[in-house]
Amino acid sequence: ADGAKAAPRATSAATAKTSVKLSHPNKLLWPDEKISKQGLLDHYALVWPRMEQFVVNRPLSLVRAPDGIGGPRFFQKHASAGMHDKILRMKDPTDGEEILFIRDFDGLAALVQYGVVEVHIWGCTVDELEKPDQIIFDLDPDEGVDVKAVREAALDIRARLDELALPNLVKTSGGKGYHVVVPLKPSADWEEAKTFAHDFARALEQAAPDRYTATLSKKARTGKIFVDYLRNGRGSTTVAPYSSRAKKGATVSMPLTWAEIEAGLAPNAFAIGDKASLKQLSQADPWADFFKLGKLLKRG
Ligand code: ATP
Ligand code: MN
Ligand code: MN
Repeated sequence: ADGAKAAPRATSAATAKTSVKLSHPNKLLWPDEKISKQGLLDHYALVWPRMEQFVVNRPLSLVRAPDGIGGPRFFQKHASAGMHDKILRMKDPTDGEEILFIRDFDGLAALVQYGVVEVHIWGCTVDELEKPDQIIFDLDPDEGVDVKAVREAALDIRARLDELALPNLVKTSGGKGYHVVVPLKPSADWEEAKTFAHDFARALEQAAPDRYTATLSKKARTGKIFVDYLRNGRGSTTVAPYSSRAKKGATVSMPLTWAEIEAGLAPNAFAIGDKASLKQLSQADPWADFFKLGKLLKRG
């Protein structure tokens, strides 16, 4: 109502600079929240020091919404004509398709200019396409599952990973769930990573079949949480840490500490430029050591 005249939400001091020019910087991508294209770029400038290591030199998939999140959306995995030259391409040796990646903040700015409202990543780098450097457990609750149960699921996964001596970190999805991420030393291939994740999801289901399912189907999910292990196949993607979401609220996928999960932070607790995000980003980076923590995936 009074929103139409409100000033765009300001993000705090941006730290990264770019030579990429935005056309229509004032176009509102999240009209209800008054987040403009420039506002999105300011968000990325602010998070860039933390985000960089998770998006640079990785195959990307893009969710574009050039007219804002109320307009048409496009999920794009491959290069198309007329993309900015800061958005780089490489041939996928298995199918000849052109994989997209960026090398620097100009690349991310070029994505914003291109109307990208969600950045999704493969769990590997462009230099090691066949060797994932992370495993993702994506917790997908059925409609009506209490958010507390989703947090407990994340904590259950953490406990099991701890038992296996596998490092683990957690982020909000910006939607309905959490993503528990296991950094890996790149060595195992996608097949091994996915098999591990599938076995892990099945073990959770076996331990608490009333709460968890390792089966994708909607029917199997009724009243339960799907432990989505399918993010771990070659070419599968997950929303990048710090990426905005094309959702109501202009939420972001935010890395957290486990203590913050225990304290009850919701999957949609953080949004572009909001108080919660600014506070989070002013605290120690909970994922700073991500790539130092990586272990080899044990076989068998
Ligand atoms: P939530 O917490 O609400 O589940 P999420 O990001 O985990 O948020 P999911 O639906 O569980 O959402 O995951 C969708 C995944 O599928 C994303 O990680 C994305 O990379 C991938 N994906 C594949 N195709 C598409 C598409 N057409 N549109 C959006 N995402 C897609
Ligand atoms: Mn999910
Ligand atoms: Mn999922």
